[in-house]
Amino acid sequence: MTEDYDVIIIGSGAGGGTLAYDLASSGKRILLLERGDFLPRELENWDAKPVFVDGRYISKDTWFDRDGKQFQPQVHYFVGGATKLYGAALYRLRPQDFGEIKHADGISPAWPLSYEDFEPWYSAAERLYQVHGNAGEDPTEGPRSEPYPWPAVSHEPRLEKISDDLAKGGYHPFHAPCGIMLNEADRPRSICIRCATCDGYPCLVHAKADADVIAVRPLLARPNVTLLTGAEVTRLETDDSGRTVTGVVVSRDGNREVYRGDIVAVSTGAANSAKILLNSASDKHPNGLANGSDQVGRNYMFHNCKAVAALSKERNDTVFQKTLGINDFYSATKDYEYPMGNIQMVGKSNAEAMRGEQPQLTWFAPEWGLTDTAQHSVDFWLTTEDLPVPENRVTTDNDGNVHLTVTMTNNEEAGRLYEELKKILNHTGMAAHHVFRKNFYMDMAIPLAGCAHQAGTCRFGTDPATSVLDTDCKAHELDNLYVVDTSFFPSIGAVNPALTAMANALRVGEHLRQRMG
Ligand SMILES: Cc1cc2nc3c(=O)[nH]c(=O)nc-3n(C[C@H](O)[C@H](O)[C@H](O)COP(=O)(O)OP(=O)(O)OC[C@H]3O[C@@H](n4cnc5c(N)ncnc54)[C@H](O)[C@@H]3O)c2cc1C
Ligand code: SF4
Repeated sequence: MTEDYDVIIIGSGAGGGTLAYDLASSGKRILLLERGDFLPRELENWDAKPVFVDGRYISKDTWFDRDGKQFQPQVHYFVGGATKLYGAALYRLRPQDFGEIKHADGISPAWPLSYEDFEPWYSAAERLYQVHGNAGEDPTEGPRSEPYPWPAVSHEPRLEKISDDLAKGGYHPFHAPCGIMLNEADRPRSICIRCATCDGYPCLVHAKADADVIAVRPLLARPNVTLLTGAEVTRLETDDSGRTVTGVVVSRDGNREVYRGDIVAVSTGAANSAKILLNSASDKHPNGLANGSDQVGRNYMFHNCKAVAALSKERNDTVFQKTLGINDFYSATKDYEYPMGNIQMVGKSNAEAMRGEQPQLTWFAPEWGLTDTAQHSVDFWLTTEDLPVPENRVTTDNDGNVHLTVTMTNNEEAGRLYEELKKILNHTGMAAHHVFRKNFYMDMAIPLAGCAHQAGTCRFGTDPATSVLDTDCKAHELDNLYVVDTSFFPSIGAVNPALTAMANALRVGEHLRQRMG
């Protein structure tokens, strides 16, 4: 079967879904190919056991590590991609992230474009994804052409207290930017109910600003947009010159189907986009499509992260906890010459989630029990930038499977950030409140399978020898192939990546509109 479209977009997540949304109003014939289905609305959406313990929404994919050992990557194949499960912390990269930065383990390279180039697209993405925030609180924030479209999500009392204590201690806590459809001024009509099962869970009431709800669903009634679910793209075929993608090969319901588009945009997540290109090797592209530079699959990044639960005697009854951020250690400080990263809150622990995330946490269960522990925990997410190392890479084997080779970078910076967090917590008086026992912290290093923030396998740049894509995210070696997910990142910064993928998709959308006329 062969069908023709103006644009074929592969993958409906932050990159692909947003691009489809942007291009839909052009009237061009658009085909959106998504290997997953719509995520079912069911009570399990908001139940920690199925979500965190049973991995109900994690794909059954098998990937392999450097030793050939198989693991189940935490990837999510649904309309909307990883954004269905994301925490919706929608940060802009900081202006310095677009330049070269020295780190303990090497250099984070400059982007070919600046913060100023991205700024209008960040604003547009914030509007589309209804980002709530409060400009001017975070000193590391770049200049903005417009305020956040929605006021910041308020802190609940425990977080307000932590924020106040931090400010008194000379830190600069800020309201974290957040893409939830919460209208605090009109709660009876607010779509978001401000619940405790947001970060890492799908939203049962469709109030999370994810790519499914915000970008894809509004397109379904349009006659010029076709969404095919259950459509796994396995390979891209080119004409004899190797310059033009002429066939998008899909496996659907056990059948092989081929679609043709004047423009093809791959947006299947950093690892899977590399997989598709590598598995599309041909005579003209013997090392994989668009891979004359041998860069496809290299420079895989996924952040050097830790989830940390700080316990104190005081209860933490916060429901929606992801409201606070701290960037005082984002750049080098007077005490440490390298950047350490971002501190933010992560979804509130509950006993089941803790059991699922880290079985060894149960070591103290006899004393407190997981329920007590969860009720007293304040949960932080620490993000340190990891570096684009060429040897950290995705490759595929003869069967087309993903192999992921990663050596973590900037562990020293991540360790310093953790020490700073401990200092902060003592500073806020949490230790003083903790009359009977010393505060203790639980540190969850994310393993290879925790690829939520994957990026960088097809970086963009001006030099075809060192990058896969040009600055429009078009493959240097092809005339009609684009990659529009987090693959294009030349470096990842230390804030969550989704807003940058969304902003970039809008930027590339504008380019494609001009190109198509
Ligand atoms: C639990 C969790 C929490 C997160 N929290 C945050 C957060 O708070 N803030 C933030 O900024 N980021 C967060 N992220 C990361 C964020 O979701 C990703 O950075 C973002 O979704 C990446 O966008 P993408 O377009 O690259 O990939 P995705 O959004 O994953 O989209 C890829 C799409 O391609 C589809 N696909 C894959 N292979 C194929 C194929 N062969 N054929 C067809 N379709 C295919 C997938 O099903 C998917 O729909 C989180 C992620 C997770 C998992
Ligand atoms: S907090 Fe709001 S957006 Fe998040 S899951 Fe609950 S209702 Fe949905």
